[in-house]
Amino acid sequence: MFKILRTRLGQGHRTTKFPLEIPTLPERYRGRPDLDPKRCLDGCKACAEACPTQAVSVDGGLKLDLGQCLFCTACIDSCPEGAIRYSQDYRLATSQRSALVLTGGELKLAERMTDDLYRILRRSLRLREVCAGSCNACDLDTNVLNTVGWDLSRFGIQFVASPRHADGLLVTGAIPRNMYRALLQTYEAVPKPRIVIALGACAISGGPYLGSPEVLNGVGGVLPVDLYVPGCPPHPLTILDGLLRLIGRIRGEPPEARPSHLMDNRTHDQGTKAVDTAAVERRDRGVESHSTDESTQ
Ligand code: SF4
Repeated sequence: MFKILRTRLGQGHRTTKFPLEIPTLPERYRGRPDLDPKRCLDGCKACAEACPTQAVSVDGGLKLDLGQCLFCTACIDSCPEGAIRYSQDYRLATSQRSALVLTGGELKLAERMTDDLYRILRRSLRLREVCAGSCNACDLDTNVLNTVGWDLSRFGIQFVASPRHADGLLVTGAIPRNMYRALLQTYEAVPKPRIVIALGACAISGGPYLGSPEVLNGVGGVLPVDLYVPGCPPHPLTILDGLLRLIGRIRGEPPEARPSHLMDNRTHDQGTKAVDTAAVERRDRGVESHSTDESTQ
């Protein structure tokens, strides 16, 4: 018994201090790509031709769609001028699908959920994960957040078994047609108001299956999405950063990531009253007309 206690004490505290401290990422880590269109040679399409998912385009200027990117480096390896490079920036999650299209190094990061949702959900988030045709890489990197290394529950975020107990869905996979109804039914079982998170290239755009007649090209064509977390799969740090931005625990875009800049210091008492139920209803009516559109089947 004494040996066990001594070993346990020797192990110390293993949970990352994120977001107070940013964990050291390996040298080979692939974060947000940096684009430098000024380096592009006239008429060169090497990156676009090398990309397996048509995430890069050069017509009308160099663009890279993070929602389709597999982070495979083919575009980087093919570019003779180094116009595309990976940075170590793990912050990739956005609130809008259009924000994932990079034209330089800028990325409009995810914002806190809308006020009407925040007043109800606050910083307590229960999520039901739906694996809709993923290879399980995104699911595994999400599972990592539940280990002692990340301890997701200290932020008030937990995964639950039943959609009835959830505030929203976290969806992975390109959404094969035979998962459409199951996904829709799971979504409809979540009490309103509810959120949807699209995790990984497949859930955002279909990823490598984009354009296949067997998939619905991600969750955006089926449900309204509140948070996009790109990657193939996204690093746990990227997922956690996105979730904390969604619940307002991280704000802004401070590259230095100092605690005083990162943390939302509002107290739990602020904004708890006067829930705008009309706004919530409006939002969900919009959701329902979208989600019950049988034409997407
Ligand atoms: S890293 Fe992304 S953009 Fe570049 S070739 Fe691979 S999938 Fe395409």
